[in-house]
Amino acid sequence: MNKFCKILLSVIFVATINFAQSTPYVILVSFDAFRWDYVNREITPSLREVMTKGVHALSLRPVFPSKTFPNHYSIITGMYSENHGIIANGFLDTLTNVWYSMSDTVTTRESKWYTGEPFWTAAEKHGIKTASYFWPGSEQTDSLRHPTYFKKYEHNKPYFERVDSVISWLQLPQNVRPHFITIYFHDTDSFGHEFGPDSDELNRSVMRLDSVAQYLLTCLKKINMIDSVNVIFTSDHGMTPTPNDQVINIEKYIENYNCKIYDNGPVVRVEPEANEIDTVFQILKRNANNFRVYKKENLPSYYHYSNNTLISSIILIADLGWSLEDNEGFKRSGYLSKGNHGYEKDHTDMHGIFIAQGPAFKEHYKTGTLWNVDIYPLLSKIFGIKQNSLIDGKLERIEFILREN
Ligand code: AMP
Ligand code: ZN
Ligand code: ZN
Repeated sequence: MNKFCKILLSVIFVATINFAQSTPYVILVSFDAFRWDYVNREITPSLREVMTKGVHALSLRPVFPSKTFPNHYSIITGMYSENHGIIANGFLDTLTNVWYSMSDTVTTRESKWYTGEPFWTAAEKHGIKTASYFWPGSEQTDSLRHPTYFKKYEHNKPYFERVDSVISWLQLPQNVRPHFITIYFHDTDSFGHEFGPDSDELNRSVMRLDSVAQYLLTCLKKINMIDSVNVIFTSDHGMTPTPNDQVINIEKYIENYNCKIYDNGPVVRVEPEANEIDTVFQILKRNANNFRVYKKENLPSYYHYSNNTLISSIILIADLGWSLEDNEGFKRSGYLSKGNHGYEKDHTDMHGIFIAQGPAFKEHYKTGTLWNVDIYPLLSKIFGIKQNSLIDGKLERIEFILREN
């Protein structure tokens, strides 16, 4: 190797080390269905410590529908569900007659369903390595659309093992170490559904997640990275009680028409024959007690839920705590879950958490409700990445929580 090559290599080496050392770290933690007010129950000492030390938003507003896949994908793309394409946890593409379903890994791994650019893709384009210990949409097979390191979803993977993997990613050599990492835990969602948001069982799941938070922070201290890593604790939506005497059989009103009924619970999508849309709409409208009926094109713009061919012609939205079912579902309504989510995004019961600490964030800072679509521009700002102009999130609604340089 001649002298010039040696100098060039050492310049590249030093530049790589400098880049790695100056690139921020962010761990984005999702506690599924962790409602905004669970931290006020005096059972979350670790999260409260982070709230005091760093930034605490009163709540985090989800996108409509307040379901898991649409909202995780909104957080990671900065887009409303009508724009990123994941309009529900499961839906039919009527043009191709193919279903997308969160429980079908064949479809969750196909990039054709996802129209937004996830933050891990934006970061990787800028030379920042990323990792995910679970996140909806992180397993896409297209190599440009998944993080460098990611795990295939395993519902029962022990929580502390997930944290251990994140910690070992952070100890990789500088040139292959991820700087943006997501991690996900389902506990408060499962127990909120099964026992309701006011149950002892739910409170115990809140405590379990608080100890996960504590474990993560303790591990970061042990590897001497607590002062360099930004940690954001967030959730996709909240939870509300769903009494089983608040169930409406919507199919009985439209039995005489050839309608496809998609989904159940807080939001139902109805697709009648093209020439019967108006009639079916009028019938449902006449019977709309404890729920609202919209034609897709007339859904108020604040839902941001019209501009996608995957959304059906008619949308029914239950009032908070009410459930909409078809004939079959109605027969089982005695066994419905005690809590649910999916309702309109401005019901505070649907709001999640935003709690963050680290070198990028202000200290001892409380603020009001934030929007989950704004997390993407926030991440772009933290990493100094030019903002993607197609997103719905707005930096100016959130950047004040960052430390001023
Ligand atoms: P839901 O309450 O119906 O909106 O969805 C919650 C469920 O989503 C959880 O119980 C998980 O089983 C599932 N889930 C969350 N993340 C993933 C993922 N990355 N892949 C597959 N399923 C997931
Ligand atoms: Zn969820
Ligand atoms: Zn859920």
